[in-house]
Amino acid sequence: AFADVKLVIPAEIFHLTKLYQEDKHEKKVNLGVGAYRTEDNKPLVLPIVKKCEFEVVNDLTLNHEYLPMSGNPDFIKVATELLLGSDCKALQEKRVAAVQTVSGTSACRLAADFLAKRLKRRAVFFPDPTWENHGEIFKHAGFKQFKNYAYWHKKRRQIDMSKLLVDLASATEGSVVLLHGSAHNPTGMDLTKKQWKQVAEVIKCNNLFPIIDTAYQGFATGDPDRDAWAIRYFANQGIELMAAQSFSKNMGLYNERVGSLVTIIKDPKLVPALISEQMLYVRPNYSNPPAFGSRVVAKVLGDKKNKEEWLKTLREMTDRVKTMRKELLQKLQKLNTPGRWDHIVKQRGMFSFTGLNEQQVARLIKEKHIYLTRTGRINICGLNTKNIDYVAESICQIVKE
Ligand code: PMP
Repeated sequence: AFADVKLVIPAEIFHLTKLYQEDKHEKKVNLGVGAYRTEDNKPLVLPIVKKCEFEVVNDLTLNHEYLPMSGNPDFIKVATELLLGSDCKALQEKRVAAVQTVSGTSACRLAADFLAKRLKRRAVFFPDPTWENHGEIFKHAGFKQFKNYAYWHKKRRQIDMSKLLVDLASATEGSVVLLHGSAHNPTGMDLTKKQWKQVAEVIKCNNLFPIIDTAYQGFATGDPDRDAWAIRYFANQGIELMAAQSFSKNMGLYNERVGSLVTIIKDPKLVPALISEQMLYVRPNYSNPPAFGSRVVAKVLGDKKNKEEWLKTLREMTDRVKTMRKELLQKLQKLNTPGRWDHIVKQRGMFSFTGLNEQQVARLIKEKHIYLTRTGRINICGLNTKNIDYVAESICQIVKE
């Protein structure tokens, strides 16, 4: 039955990490991985997350009974407030249907399942480029038409706003539009408030349906409220939408798989029905979400002092990324690296879309043992004071040759 199976590479990013781990070179650098790293190139367990984990483990009133299919209510309350702000009108008017998911990936999948199978949406617009998993998620859910809207202008190394608006204006009524809430992956380039307002206008005029994928709330500016500006603006405009929320990056809970799907609708009476119908897609998929991470997040966000400590660490992480951006730019400029590099400091979040081409990327991997994705995306978190000179010199040399 299995004679046809072939060895494939399902995801470039996991493959890169494997190659990096097998590489014995002393100067090797991993700029591929999509996770935070400390100055010592180590994963970070946020101290407040660790403290809350201990509390959960030591709480003898807790057990391993199944959660409801829609998840842990304590988690959902604080997670939704973090996303929308506690003064959100839609929340006060009880127009928000939120369910816990297996992190941001399954929030996207549940959104796509519901839109394709239940609401019979066929067309989805992604930014060009987008997270490489979006296409597969929507394909598996049953979407049929995949279109891009312009986002990154390769030559100018910035957002191609005029083309973006033209592309969205051409979308037929009812099309789904995927937007990145903050810290766009892979470009690191976000819309300004003025640009978000223009996008909201087209979405309203054309009656498009937005999904705001929010995998990096707090990672763009260090302030989760500022990073949620766009989604809150859309909500206040009375736009119906879905948002995929993830705690992988901003709490460093990657493998605990904590997230939610938040749907904002016009009629509060439909919220229970909507949640019940979303469960028709959860039940045959993963049945119910895992509890541990949701309990940790509920403790971090549910206590004022804990939350402040989390915000402090979040700022420290984003400050380190900003410092590395500045230093990389300075070093590339000092070395007289051909081309413009100032986009590195205009971009936000973990990633920088460097503009390096596929050949240059291949050479960096092969000759310099610096691992990054084919698209030229680097994870700034992989840089530290010990390897940044080597990385800048290597990029300069490869670009010059
Ligand atoms: N959306 C985007 C844009 C992402 O970059 C990621 C993580 N790479 C996710 C969603 C999903 O991550 P997770 O499933 O860990 O929440």
